[in-house]
Amino acid sequence: MDVHCSTCNEPWDAHHLWHDAVFETGLTVEGAQTWCSLPRNQKLSDRYREEFRAVGWEFGQTLINVVHCPSCPKDAQPNPERVQTKAALEDLLGDDQDGLAAAFEDYRL
Ligand SMILES: [Zn+2]
Repeated sequence: MDVHCSTCNEPWDAHHLWHDAVFETGLTVEGAQTWCSLPRNQKLSDRYREEFRAVGWEFGQTLINVVHCPSCPKDAQPNPERVQTKAALEDLLGDDQDGLAAAFEDYRL
């Protein structure tokens, strides 16, 4: 399932976000493996957000709500409408991240 960056519209595979992107951060392999074993609702603590931000990722409340990604052009700003729509879907479906990823894909968000 692909989800799109709210800033540059780059498609990202939800599987990549859940399982691979963390290995491209500054975390050690052990640190990244520890992250992988966390429940989904603990993956975006401040500490981990910081690690992701350092390599260009910014997320909404969930990992599949990509607000900013490493492919974004420098100084690009997120599309406010897209951010709002995704936040609303996140409120509705946030507990069901597979459902949320499917909704993002359906709406090409
Ligand atoms: Zn982007």
